[in-house]
Amino acid sequence: MPSISETAKRDDARNCIYCNSSGPFNEEHPLPRCLGEFRNAPKLYSVCKECNGKIGRESEDQFCRAGPEAFFRNYFGGKGRKSHEKVNPFERGSAGGQAIDIMGVHPESGIQVLYEKDPGTNTCRELRQIVVIDGDGNSYPIRIANWMKTQKDIEQEIRKLKLKEIKSIRVFANTDEMAWVRSLTDGLAEKVTWSQQPEGSTVSQPVVSFSVTVAYFRAVAKASFHYFLATDNSVSGSEPIFAGIRNFILSGTDEKRFVSQERTP
Ligand SMILES: [Zn+2]
Repeated sequence: MPSISETAKRDDARNCIYCNSSGPFNEEHPLPRCLGEFRNAPKLYSVCKECNGKIGRESEDQFCRAGPEAFFRNYFGGKGRKSHEKVNPFERGSAGGQAIDIMGVHPESGIQVLYEKDPGTNTCRELRQIVVIDGDGNSYPIRIANWMKTQKDIEQEIRKLKLKEIKSIRVFANTDEMAWVRSLTDGLAEKVTWSQQPEGSTVSQPVVSFSVTVAYFRAVAKASFHYFLATDNSVSGSEPIFAGIRNFILSGTDEKRFVSQERTP
């Protein structure tokens, strides 16, 4: 295997396929590292450090933490690089993508609540949340975020639901967070029920939903395009025919041409 410096030397004449600069270059992994280490995975040496960093920050972070892949990373217990593991993808969104929703029926009360997966297992537990129940018995879970300080922060989220009537509220929190959560929720409704978040629960027929932006699709395009370039030496990637996909990967240009939505899988 050639080292980075050898390859850089070999590619001295080549410019960055995105910005045409003469470098410096770094080793680019077409398969995002957050998916794991792949033995003998191809690498690309024609993307300059600056472009590589720019694309990674904006799109790969979202790909790794907010999309379906983020769910399966958690499911299989993928570790990735340590610095990237601070975010619980069920608790909050990342790099423009929303937190992943796992909705399921809470066995004790029969209402729909949000769950989080226990990493690397197939069990889950109730997310820290309040569940607002309206006059018709419909339930609306709201995550209790770390940044929330006063009751106003929760009230603001409840107002967004535009409910006519609040019948009751159910709160899910750990014992050690009870005091803080109580200060956020006391007085929100006449009837407040408290529940623990037992780890290792199972939930029947959960529905998992994702909410991503174009950044997610740029990361998918990047992985595919770079993988193709790293395994096919007949093209460099800087050819005019690839201008559209390069611009899409770099800045999301021409989104409609590259992302389309189907109603059926
Ligand atoms: Zn560049």
